[in-house]
Amino acid sequence: MRFFSETESDPAVSTERDALTRGLNPLAALDYVRTQGGAPAIAQVLRALPKDDQAILAGERRLSQRAWVPFMTQGRLLSAIDNVLGNADHTLLFEVGQHMARRDIPRLFRPFLKLGNPGWVIEFGMRMWRYYHSCGRWQIERTPVTVLATLHDHPAHEAFCSTFVGWMTGALEMGGGVHVMVDHPVCHARGAPNCVYTCRWNRRRRPDEQTEPMDRFTSDPSSLLVDPDE
Ligand SMILES: [Zn+2]
Repeated sequence: MRFFSETESDPAVSTERDALTRGLNPLAALDYVRTQGGAPAIAQVLRALPKDDQAILAGERRLSQRAWVPFMTQGRLLSAIDNVLGNADHTLLFEVGQHMARRDIPRLFRPFLKLGNPGWVIEFGMRMWRYYHSCGRWQIERTPVTVLATLHDHPAHEAFCSTFVGWMTGALEMGGGVHVMVDHPVCHARGAPNCVYTCRWNRRRRPDEQTEPMDRFTSDPSSLLVDPDE
């Protein structure tokens, strides 16, 4: 069991108003919309959002991947995508999350995907959480074919959680997992104290013994927050 220490000195910040996420995340979700219906679909999704969210996502100033935006704006965007393109039952959001993982993980983690260790990809992604989110702390328990991941001190939005199941599935598949199963049995949005995700997969092939390189990247992991706009 590992507790990531980088957030332990912070006061517990978990109000909806304080929670922010990087522009990378709504841009990835909007990229999914673009693949489904181009500019008309994006316009339709944006129209389903409150004016404040529209201004953040598609205002005069182009949204940068590094910009901080309210986490709840991302939650409402995902809900709008589900309502406009899906059946308003969160089923589509699995696909949205998978798309987001497939879009961003190769760019952010590219040198490390060859390791063929799906659980490591999830653990590394969670270690990077605070570079993409202003609050929250992950507790990870990992075996060679499972991860139990718990998010503490972060507000929940059910559309986000449903999308994150797809993101984790995509991340594990990109890390070499097959027959990936991710579930979200405990959710802060449904009254639990935190959000718990369970992951199980099979290995594509028997991996060689590998040294996990995480420590090499703790000195400046923000260098992985690439922004082609800059
Ligand atoms: Zn949840």
